[in-house]
Amino acid sequence: MIPISRVDLGEDSIAMAVEVLRSGRLAQGAVVAEFERRFAEMTGCAHAVAVSSGTTALVASLEALQLQPGDEVITSPLTFVATLNAILEAGATAVFADVAEADFAIDPASVGAALGPRTRVLMPVHLYGQAAPMDQLMPIAQKHRLAVVEDAAQSHGATLNGKAVGSYGIGGFSFYGTKNLTTGEGGMVTTNDADLAERLQVLRNQGMRQRYEYVMAGHNYRLTDLQAALVLPQLDRYAANVSARQANAAALNQGLKGIEGLVVPQALPGRGHVWHQYTVRLTPEARLTREQFVEGLAEAGIGCGVYYPKVVFDYPVYLNHPRVQVCDVPVARRLASQVVSLPVHPALSSGDVAQIIAAVRRLLA
Ligand SMILES: *Cc1c(COP(=O)(O)O)cnc(C)c1O
Repeated sequence: MIPISRVDLGEDSIAMAVEVLRSGRLAQGAVVAEFERRFAEMTGCAHAVAVSSGTTALVASLEALQLQPGDEVITSPLTFVATLNAILEAGATAVFADVAEADFAIDPASVGAALGPRTRVLMPVHLYGQAAPMDQLMPIAQKHRLAVVEDAAQSHGATLNGKAVGSYGIGGFSFYGTKNLTTGEGGMVTTNDADLAERLQVLRNQGMRQRYEYVMAGHNYRLTDLQAALVLPQLDRYAANVSARQANAAALNQGLKGIEGLVVPQALPGRGHVWHQYTVRLTPEARLTREQFVEGLAEAGIGCGVYYPKVVFDYPVYLNHPRVQVCDVPVARRLASQVVSLPVHPALSSGDVAQIIAAVRRLLA
């Protein structure tokens, strides 16, 4: 079986974790601080604040903006449920702009329809490892005085015109077990705003600035040194890891050319794609339905994933939620019905890639 994702912790990660275990200091300390320093450097941000998950990174980002009840956040309907849950957890109202077919991210042309007098935040999602069109989204945010929170959970190190995601607005990253960089569970907020960074540091630690000096009602959103120890060696190898993902994506694109009803993903000009997922689309011209295709891949021993089978609010719990605005998002609905992600991770051998190509061709060509 070729899995859709694989965690390959090196012996160096294991050794660092053992070192932390022997030190007797397991909670947030010097190793987390080192991780923050290096992640800020990697994303070209002045500050990085480690937190307990990608979800809490987004919640803390929104809370740090001090939103009021009724304030609206415009986000993407083609995303993991955490994006939406974070908005609701922060007490805001979720509104959706449609996405573009080329990059699966918020289409700048569709933001206008989602804007209203209560819109406070624009929250694009950098899906599958590719940056959203921040060069077009930032001017819209500036014009309407919106804060920008980037859901960069899938896109560590992705760039647009050389500038890393998470450095445009406030960046929220995840280090969950399947992400490009992992601590099992973990997250990071990046920002160039020193005051905001300070507020985030206080928010994640019970609202406490100094010992027993509480300046706001906070949380325990801390990451631990034990978790951070796992990821430091991964940072050393990350550029090579991304190159391997890019090479795998290029080989898949080459091998899957010209199949009726199959659309392969593209890195758009100017975007440094980190290929968290390699996501194809099955259009109505395809020989098989998506369900049949997924079944055929499983029989051929190839793991795959459907990210995501429906637009994020298309579940009764959200359709009936007073702080979710059900919006007209036809492109996102169509893409959600067509997407399938194939393995692209760096542990794939060239034989694995050939096997994936052969199986897809056999099923669809
Ligand atoms: C993984 C993910 C999150 C949430 O991250 P967790 O670390 O699992 O809380 C948020 N948004 C997107 C797009 C994700 O893929």
